[in-house]
Amino acid sequence: MLGAAASLLNIKVVILDAGEHAPAKQVLSPLSTKYAHFDGLFSDPAKIKELAQKVDVLTVEIEHVDADALAEAGCEVHPRPSTIKLIQDKFAQKQHLKTRGCPVSDFITVESTVESIHNAATTLGLPLMLKSRTLAYDGRGNFVVRDVSQVPEALAMLGNRPLYAEKWVPFTHEIAVMVVRSTSGQVKAYPVVETVHKENICHLVFAPLRSRDATLSRRAQIVAEAAVKTFEGAGVFGVEMFLMDDGGLYINEIAPRPHNSGHYTIEACETSQYENHLRAILSLPLGSTALKVPSCAMLNIIGLSSSMAEIKALTDVALTVSGASVHLYGKAECRKGRKMGHITIVAESDAQLRSRLRILLDALPSSPV
Ligand code: ADP
Ligand code: MG
Repeated sequence: MLGAAASLLNIKVVILDAGEHAPAKQVLSPLSTKYAHFDGLFSDPAKIKELAQKVDVLTVEIEHVDADALAEAGCEVHPRPSTIKLIQDKFAQKQHLKTRGCPVSDFITVESTVESIHNAATTLGLPLMLKSRTLAYDGRGNFVVRDVSQVPEALAMLGNRPLYAEKWVPFTHEIAVMVVRSTSGQVKAYPVVETVHKENICHLVFAPLRSRDATLSRRAQIVAEAAVKTFEGAGVFGVEMFLMDDGGLYINEIAPRPHNSGHYTIEACETSQYENHLRAILSLPLGSTALKVPSCAMLNIIGLSSSMAEIKALTDVALTVSGASVHLYGKAECRKGRKMGHITIVAESDAQLRSRLRILLDALPSSPV
């Protein structure tokens, strides 16, 4: 999706990823050997160095990269490797946010021992969210400890990873805000969205957020903008938040890159998160983040098995729905729980959106809402 946005602005992109048919390489064919993509792991320092020699500006679409190698890359890197390194470690990220006055719920560091987690449960109460500090995504890296008898099971699942514990947040909704940050540190928030998760994976996004509280969206944007201001480097950032019953907000976590909760911006905003990421890292004027449709939803296409059959059935239906745009990522294999693509639906009203979305939800083997 970044590649598709780059091609419209004549921006040459070189991709480092494992495999000849990596999704971005399917979208962007290299025009010359100078701009040839290449195979390798983004965690491999030698490959990062090779990439840096081919480009003026280097950016990432995943935070699980070798941040130290990026720091020594010898070219401009956005966001800054120090930002990527900080965000990679969820505990360090939370500490950073807390010390800068951003709202986060209570959390403490723990050792991977039964005793240490018992102590955390005494301090923070139960249930307790035990989290891997690093390499977590789509809920893989979290364990909800509801009773101390579950601690051995939690350790068996996460025990060989560095851990920390978070106080359970009894939120009413999960919301998210994309923020674009320029090389000079200017920040601009996108509309606030509601994210609906199923089995720890984002399933649906609704834009804009609907609430009886007229101050909520602006308050959430201010919290998100202030948080993104504390990080160095340019690009888009995804800010995940918890909304409490009394209207209070906590930041859950921040992604230093285009984010799933911002996919809707491709069809629904004046400038997509991808185009604004490119504009930001190349010091071009930032584009408008305003919605250009009254109502929008995004449905993730999640693999159910190794077969693409269910996905084809869903996308066949989506192609018949007005306002629906299908995005398939070209991943080589389908797996249960893997994000294979998404569908964005735009509409003239919330009522029209619901009726269009209903057709897609009815086409899912098991409906998430
Ligand atoms: P990931 O990196 O997998 O996105 P998150 O830290 O965002 O991990 O957690 C995944 C989901 O787990 C969140 O979207 C939210 O639904 C739930 N969650 C995370 N932290 C807490 C918490 N402290 N209290 C309650 N629920 C939480
Ligand atoms: Mg998350």
